Amino acid sequence: MYSKEIAAGGSEMADLFRANVTRYAAYKSFVCDKLLQEDAAKDADKQAGREKMIDRFNRWQYTEEAMVAKRCRRAKQWEEIEAGGFERIKWLPSVSIEKRAEHIPYYNQIFPKDWDGWDKQDVWGCKCSMVGTYRKETPHEWTDENDEVKPLPELKASRGLEGNPARTGEVFTDRAAYVRKGNEEASLFFSKKIREEYLAPIPDGGYTIGYSSLSTGALHIGKKSLRRALNHAVTWQSKVIAKLITDRKIDMGKRVLYEYLGERYDLTDEVMRRKFLAKVKRGVIGYNMYEIEFYGNKYEILMEVSKYGYEQPYVIKQK
Ligand SMILES: [Zn+2]
Repeated sequence: MYSKEIAAGGSEMADLFRANVTRYAAYKSFVCDKLLQEDAAKDADKQAGREKMIDRFNRWQYTEEAMVAKRCRRAKQWEEIEAGGFERIKWLPSVSIEKRAEHIPYYNQIFPKDWDGWDKQDVWGCKCSMVGTYRKETPHEWTDENDEVKPLPELKASRGLEGNPARTGEVFTDRAAYVRKGNEEASLFFSKKIREEYLAPIPDGGYTIGYSSLSTGALHIGKKSLRRALNHAVTWQSKVIAKLITDRKIDMGKRVLYEYLGERYDLTDEVMRRKFLAKVKRGVIGYNMYEIEFYGNKYEILMEVSKYGYEQPYVIKQK
C-alpha cells in the first residue's frame, strides 16, 4: 500500500514514511489474519461471512491509501511553508465531495505556524489542505447558517493520525488501532520485511566508501553489518537511521566517545571472552559513539571501528 508520493521520494522523510507504512501494513495483515482465523474456528462452514470481512478490509484500504497520500502531501506542504519562511498558514477547504462538518468553520482561516491545531487536522476521510501566507490572522470565529457568530469548534485528530507528519516523521502513530492490537509476532514480521528491503541492494562482500561525517572518514557497507545494526535497532525509527547511515544521509555530528574493544568486555567471563575474540577476528578494534537528533528524538549511535580504517553501524538506540 505504497502511495505514489512516498515511493517516488528519495529524501530521508520518504524513507521514514515508507518504513512507517510498511510497519502499519504488517500489523494490519496480522490483525486481519487473526480475525479470519478466529472466525474460521468459530464456524468453519460460513465462507460467505469471511468474504464479507475481506470485502470490508479492502474497502477500508481505499480510505487508508488516501490518508497516506494526504499525510505525505501535507508533509511536503509543510516543507514548502518552512522553505518559504511563512509565519502564518491558511486552512484550505476540503476537495472531497463529503466535507467534514467540524472542519467547515476552519475553511480559509489563517493561523500562526505554531498553532497546535495543525497537529489535530487529520481525520479519516478528510481532504483539507493548507498553504503558507503573508496575510494577517483571521478572527477565529465563524458564522453559522443562522448568521450567528460562533467560536471555532474543538479540533480532534483521528486515533493514529495525531501530530504533524513533517515533524514527527509518522504517517500512522502508535495509537493506530492495528498497531495497538499487534504483538511481538507482528513486530517481527515488520522487522523481517524491512530487513529484506534494506539488504537487497547491497552487494555480497560489501564495499567501503568515504563518509566525511565519520571520525575515521570511511564507512563500510555490508549485508552482515547492516543486518547486525538492524537487529540492534529496537524501534522502527532506529532501523530507518541504520539505512540512512548506509546511504550516507545522516549528519553524525561530533564523535562523543571512543571506546577500546577491551573496555566493553569482561574477559574473565567465558561468554564475554568468546564474543570479544569473535570481534577481534572480525577486525574490530573499538567503538565510536555519536549522538544525533532525529524528528524530535535523541539517538545514540555506536559505530564499530575496524583495524582496516573504517566504521560500520552497530547499535542505534533511542535515548
Ligand atoms: Zn477536513
